[in-house]
Amino acid sequence: MTEAPTGGGCVAARHVAIAPDRWLACRELVWDRGGRIVALRRATGRVADVAVLPGLVDAHAHLQIEPLSRAERAFVPWVGAVMTARAAISPARERAALRAGLAQLLAGGATAVGDIDATGAATAALAAAAVRSRAYRELTGFHLDAPAARALVRERLVRARGALAPGLSPHAPYSVSPALFRAAAARARWLAIHCAELPEEQEFLRRGTGPFRALLERLGRLPAGFRAPGVGAVRWLERLGVLRPGTQLVHCQELERGDAARVAAAGASIAVCPGAIAWFRREAPDVVGWRARGIPVALGTDSRAGNADGLSMRAALAKAAALWPSLAPAELLAMATTDAAASIGLPGAGRLAVGGRADFIVVDAAVDAAATLRGFVQGELPLRTVVCAGRTRRFAPGR
Ligand SMILES: [Zn+2]
Repeated sequence: MTEAPTGGGCVAARHVAIAPDRWLACRELVWDRGGRIVALRRATGRVADVAVLPGLVDAHAHLQIEPLSRAERAFVPWVGAVMTARAAISPARERAALRAGLAQLLAGGATAVGDIDATGAATAALAAAAVRSRAYRELTGFHLDAPAARALVRERLVRARGALAPGLSPHAPYSVSPALFRAAAARARWLAIHCAELPEEQEFLRRGTGPFRALLERLGRLPAGFRAPGVGAVRWLERLGVLRPGTQLVHCQELERGDAARVAAAGASIAVCPGAIAWFRREAPDVVGWRARGIPVALGTDSRAGNADGLSMRAALAKAAALWPSLAPAELLAMATTDAAASIGLPGAGRLAVGGRADFIVVDAAVDAAATLRGFVQGELPLRTVVCAGRTRRFAPGR
């Protein structure tokens, strides 16, 4: 790979994946100072024994959340520990956490991210970063009525800036009031919602009992006269009008009968985080069945507080390959590129095209394209370089 001192450059590779299932042999990729791909042509000179793939897309991350000082594997105490750590963090420390998070994201091969921002600091950092992003400002408030919900949404809405596109994340059905869901849906097309993550969430929605009720009571956020919706999370979101195209449901560990059909019919997408599945020792959800129904399923990393691999999409992909071995390597790569880009609404991300951004990764090539694809999704081929908006961000022989 050669780079001009003024920016722009060229790489001639044995294999170039312009999309997860479209691999070209012996191609030269040229980009300009503005970080745009200007040519993708048959190589005429020597090609390196490497493969170029689109930069990965992390469909669900919390860049600002740091690892906890003590690993917690039970979910409700984990939420408490994250909330305590968040309350204690200084603005300077949060900025440092975001820098570390962005560096880790790039080092793991991702050049685009759907980020959940609880404080506004991540949105500011992403607006100044080269990484493409959908910045979902987080909304919580199980106690909020319609005027309060509309005021919160107004305060949290951001405009597109640089490589940042805006979105909202009404956190979860156990932490967001019906009025807040409706207010978010009225003002933002792109929503990310933690959904059906736990049996206790479904219990709370169906019967109004369990640890989430206790948590809301402790926080003073359970409205007087609260009555449970009496249905599971997906049906509740459907009833509230937020199950629709542009909505990303995160986790979906506990879908009920008929839920996958509802999600598919609504045109919503699902994000799964293999690192979080491992962290909380959960079972693999039915990603194969969801994909068969046509639901876009995207991979994410979640947060460093609940993922031993941190914000590495490479690691997320390798874990996904182990969790869903019946998926073809190109399908797995799609979950980390094109499907993830569709899930967070970043057109052009996760693929390579003339005129598009020069966001790509370079790995060692295996004997042929199929072996390279297989080796890459299984985490076997070393990541050599990450190029984001035309700038080389990392060069290392290791993973
Ligand atoms: Zn999350």
